[in-house]
Amino acid sequence: MLDQPRGSSLVDMRSVCRSFSKGSGEDLLVLEKVDLTIHSGEIVGLLGRSGSGKSTLLRIIAGLIAPSSGDARCRGETIMGPPNGVAMVFQSFALFPWLTVLQNVELGLEALGIDATERRKRALAAIDLIGLDGFESAYPKELSGGMRQRVGFARALVVHPDLLLMDEPFSALDVLTAETLRTDLVDLWIEGRLPIRSVLMVTHNIEEAVLMCDRILVFSSNPGRVAAEIKVELPHPRHRLDPAFRQLVDSIYARMAQRAEPKTPAVEGIHGTGVGMILQHVSSNVLSGLIETLAAPPYDGRADLPVLAGHLQLEADEIFHFGESLQLLRFAQLNEGDLVLTEAGQRFAHLETDDRKKLFAEHLINYVPVMGLIRRVLDERPSHTAPEARFRNELEDYMSEDQADETLKTIVSWGRYAELFAYDEQSELFSLENPH
Ligand code: ADP
Ligand code: MG
Repeated sequence: MLDQPRGSSLVDMRSVCRSFSKGSGEDLLVLEKVDLTIHSGEIVGLLGRSGSGKSTLLRIIAGLIAPSSGDARCRGETIMGPPNGVAMVFQSFALFPWLTVLQNVELGLEALGIDATERRKRALAAIDLIGLDGFESAYPKELSGGMRQRVGFARALVVHPDLLLMDEPFSALDVLTAETLRTDLVDLWIEGRLPIRSVLMVTHNIEEAVLMCDRILVFSSNPGRVAAEIKVELPHPRHRLDPAFRQLVDSIYARMAQRAEPKTPAVEGIHGTGVGMILQHVSSNVLSGLIETLAAPPYDGRADLPVLAGHLQLEADEIFHFGESLQLLRFAQLNEGDLVLTEAGQRFAHLETDDRKKLFAEHLINYVPVMGLIRRVLDERPSHTAPEARFRNELEDYMSEDQADETLKTIVSWGRYAELFAYDEQSELFSLENPH
């Protein structure tokens, strides 16, 4: 895709980087050298885990924010402000509550200076197309979530954009409503009835991407970049249970899991390792439950990630997140799309509560450097206490404030479970006093 000459493409990004200020003076690099091209006539999926920078990338294409460096073009021209012919559908509908469906849909055309008669005509056509016929004079609060999102789509379609950007447009809907809306959109697209040329859809849902897209760009995290491109050549209508569909979903899972494997060796000072390791919170109950599930039949220590996700009704994102925590703690390993218990994980599954806590504590000290640091500081101080700020400051040298919050939450929860230290919310003090 890199060989396409400029001009034949709708969107062209080369080496696009974007960072945000972390507050502590340093910058958080969110997008690193992103290359991507979108051609006319395709639905492209941008698949990545939450926090990987997908919305940021979409906002750059929509002209809402600028890249920190690199080249972002729409139809050959550098993007500066919202480009013509690009419309966006948001996850959270973003409708005006005081306007009717028809008025909400017409709104997009006012800015284009289209006269009232034509506006009305086009808005009614878009409303009809998207299945909202009869709801023209309803207000958003009178509609279900699915209907509201249809208004969101109608409002984007009414301008007849060349490129429709969608940021997780189905993720706020319940499962059945989301599936109906996906199918309706794909049908309209296949029948050539959508007044648009291309779609770029952000999602963290692997099956959704395989269901809808011609091409999937797999986005890696920390920082975000396009790590793989997958062409989906399955004919429409696509069926989730079709073996070819399953196989593709499996292979994408495996690819994404690969990137979830830890960087070795863990060197202090490198982003995401050492004391600066970002810890995503997973409760010790969930971790114990997952270890037990993995140890028991039918898995007997090894589970295919999509199968396990299906069984536990988890999204890909969640199962990776849990799998990574187990891997970080050396209770399991992600291996070619499988989650495999280690010897310690097997042992954990068969221990009683108190012994589980001891094993957990041992692994925290050995494999999560910040836990060792906190324990050392508490041991050395005569008071055997230390304020949270002592560690927060250190964490914020490596990560954003939000990430430090999440990491501290994890530290407190795991530390309490393992009885490594106590933490008092009121005084924000860590201490060696055993909470039990
Ligand atoms: P995704 O859509 O893949 O979940 P986002 O693009 O929303 O990811 O965010 C990626 C990272 O950038 C996150 O760590 C987020 O906290 C950070 N981020 C996004 N927007 C801003 C902003 N305006 N200021 C600071 N940090 C931001
Ligand atoms: Mg997002």
